[in-house]
Amino acid sequence: MPKIPSIYQSGRHFLQIPGPTNVPDRILRAMSQPTIDHRGPEFATLGLECLEGLKAVFQTKTGKVIIYPASGTGAWEAAIVNTLSPRDCVLMFETGHFATLWRKVAQNFGLDVVFVPGDWRHGIDPVVVETKLREDSSHKIKAVMCVHNETSTGVTSRIGEVRKAMDAARHPALLMVDTISSLASIDYRHDEWKVDVCVAGSQKGLMLPPGLSFNAVSEKALAASKQASLPRSFWSWVEMLGPNEQGFFPFTPATNLLYGLREAIQMLVHEEGLPNVFRRHDRLAAATRCAVRAWGLELLCLEPHEFSSSLTAVTLPEGFSEIDFRRVVLENYNLSLGSGLGKLRGKVFRIGHLGDLNDLMLCGALCGVEMGLGKFGVPHRKGGVAAALEFLARGDSS
Ligand SMILES: *Cc1c(COP(=O)(O)O)cnc(C)c1O
Repeated sequence: MPKIPSIYQSGRHFLQIPGPTNVPDRILRAMSQPTIDHRGPEFATLGLECLEGLKAVFQTKTGKVIIYPASGTGAWEAAIVNTLSPRDCVLMFETGHFATLWRKVAQNFGLDVVFVPGDWRHGIDPVVVETKLREDSSHKIKAVMCVHNETSTGVTSRIGEVRKAMDAARHPALLMVDTISSLASIDYRHDEWKVDVCVAGSQKGLMLPPGLSFNAVSEKALAASKQASLPRSFWSWVEMLGPNEQGFFPFTPATNLLYGLREAIQMLVHEEGLPNVFRRHDRLAAATRCAVRAWGLELLCLEPHEFSSSLTAVTLPEGFSEIDFRRVVLENYNLSLGSGLGKLRGKVFRIGHLGDLNDLMLCGALCGVEMGLGKFGVPHRKGGVAAALEFLARGDSS
């Protein structure tokens, strides 16, 4: 028999994992409306508002947005099966656990993956991108596939510079980018960076429950999809784009999640404004790093210009398991922290600071970490929370 928790934990649970993130009450209320006829006139308005609003979130005017009732992993698969053919060569980078999982999807479809090794503490090196593409003079590589924000490590790759490297090498490969933990948290510019396929999900920066994922697709990717021969049915862009013209879907959409999505777009794009959303994330991330440094703990990310604004991964000293630490924090302070993924299991915990969050919520979470370090007996200095408070009170975003 599973053990039933016998202690009621009062107050709000602190969900500080890097996705799923806190869902604002406004979004929960927006979703709790009756489900409507997905072939009726009222639905068409909802569908068009979501598809149009998402373009602003991806910062695209010319791209098409696709909405799937699936987790982000589905949108990974969609990016592949719509654009590539069996045995095509693709270039990927071992930035961490999620890059490694995406590679596995590509391999499962019979693609030939060139996987540039990495130490899980750095982002993609644009110089390596340029070198690899220049070496490929016969243009065997059909796609360069990048994770924008590596959620397992708290390292953000510079996609604008990756694009510049591709242009410098004059290579025609498609650029595909996973923004599942960066979209609506960290600046992502679909048109400016000429990204061909963007992959995103609902449960991180968009502040929605899990269950939706997205592709944002360029003209070039749509053209590639006409030639590509991997089999596709559910994920087919062409099947989707036809009915989408009128705001409809080829199968039953996740109507109530779309109510939530419409509300999230209203909040992020029309009320707070994306530049302010990015600034808020930068600031909360910087405050978190102040706390980690003051505790005397080590940040996993080694490059200051690659620090993630969505989450911070922190290394625990030898002999202290992240798994036990997080259990102590959860049981004592009702705070969920992110676990160590893949080869970081047992060694690294992650503080999510993306989505619907403000100064006081962040400080509550940092208090939980600081008290947890004390309770678990991790050698550290006090004063992390105080350092974060001081930073936040100064009011800058450096
Ligand atoms: C969360 C995440 C995924 C996986 O998405 P699911 O919704 O769990 O399928 C993939 N890539 C990145 C960067 C993520 O953060």
